[in-house]
Amino acid sequence: MDLEQLWQSTLGEMEIQLSRANFATWLKNSRLFDKKDGTFYISLPNNFAKEWVENKYNKNLLGIMRNFDTSARKLEFVVANQATEPLSPSAPTQKLDNTIGLEFKVDPETNLNPRYTMQSFVVGPSNELAFAAASSIVNEIGTKYNPFFVYGLVGLGKTHLIQAIGNEINSRYQRKIRPKYVSSEKFTSDIVWGIRNKRMEDMKRKYRDVDVLIIDDIQFIGGKEKTEEEFFHTFNALYEANKQIIISSDRPPQSIPTLEERLRSRFEGGLITDIGYPEYETRVAIIKSKLQETGLVLSDAVVDIIAKKVKKNIRELEGVLKKILFYQDKKQTAINESVAEEIIEKSIQSSFKRVNDGQILKAVAEFFNISIEDLISHNRRKEVVKPRQIAMYLLRDISELSYPYIGEKMGRDHTTAIHSYEKINQEVNKNPNLNQEILSIKDIIFKS
Ligand code: ADP
Ligand code: MG
Repeated sequence: MDLEQLWQSTLGEMEIQLSRANFATWLKNSRLFDKKDGTFYISLPNNFAKEWVENKYNKNLLGIMRNFDTSARKLEFVVANQATEPLSPSAPTQKLDNTIGLEFKVDPETNLNPRYTMQSFVVGPSNELAFAAASSIVNEIGTKYNPFFVYGLVGLGKTHLIQAIGNEINSRYQRKIRPKYVSSEKFTSDIVWGIRNKRMEDMKRKYRDVDVLIIDDIQFIGGKEKTEEEFFHTFNALYEANKQIIISSDRPPQSIPTLEERLRSRFEGGLITDIGYPEYETRVAIIKSKLQETGLVLSDAVVDIIAKKVKKNIRELEGVLKKILFYQDKKQTAINESVAEEIIEKSIQSSFKRVNDGQILKAVAEFFNISIEDLISHNRRKEVVKPRQIAMYLLRDISELSYPYIGEKMGRDHTTAIHSYEKINQEVNKNPNLNQEILSIKDIIFKS
């Protein structure tokens, strides 16, 4: 076995162990170029990849390699070309727009955007369960995890993942299996259109005549009775025919207010999994993978800064990356850390603008599908008592308002405000559902 073959065989094994995106990000351009006294020399395209592979994959690689060549004792990693790569002369923003999804080439038949693939989905601890489930669905459509329900906060990759399932099915089965993607807003407006134009039969056919129905952001159908009703029947028709149903939401089924019980229990009959905040390593891998897609280069220090500062939203991460690359292109010189930091601070600041009481109340009311009047009323129904306590908690937690002020705002005395804050504050650490609800509400507040 020559070095080239040995390396290809080793990578072949490694590819099975890693996610495709991680494999492509870290090992695609590696090479085994020399060996001497049991030390094998591997080159990697840059220092970042070198350190990464050295720290994370050294042992695995050596272990695999020794199966093919028992003389291997040690691996040495080196950077292939020490000279820094020149900046790409071509227009970066356009290329970046393509990968970052501004250029839509949505397939009119399936509504899928081909840019969302399993290959470009970087896998880490925060999303690996969801990714594993998605991958196995492609192999066992309709039978393994049905329905598949994935939830998580905004910008963490739900749409990417569920569309990737559709795209993977398309490429794997050459369109013999028909997926269809729809946002729940579009589904709702189709139902409304069908009713208004007496064309419900057409609408029924449209959504039942598919093999895989992918419906995004299902939380929006909660409380829309006619739409829920129609979705329920569509769901049953597909389910009984062993068709696959894939659903995303910003929260778990039990936290969608006014979702009919029968739909909720249908969702709970399948697999429910969440996507969380990405860890530092995953954020780095995502940035690296976006850079690789565009062929643009950033220094490792700048990549590190972006990954350290932008933590909670991958869409935001992409936005910051794009701004930095744009700046770098304009200046025609590699960006340094302090400039990068400045750009990041500016974009993050604008998303952390101060919020006012009204926005907090509005977000709570919106989330629980009640009115602001309900929130500040003296109604004791369970459906409003909890949201009211959460509102008081958030007024304190986010805006650090005084208890008397909060009490007055909510038409109560300050002891009620204290009690509400403390109750929620204690429970939030013990009850993951409540925690998730609070996170979702904060998300609405900071996005508005
Ligand atoms: P959500 O639907 O949860 O709000 P999206 O799927 O729209 O989030 O993701 C936001 C952006 O981040 C998209 O451009 C998506 O491609 C990107 N993204 C999210 N997760 C990943 C990931 N794991 N790997 C690569 N890109 C990702
Ligand atoms: Mg989405």
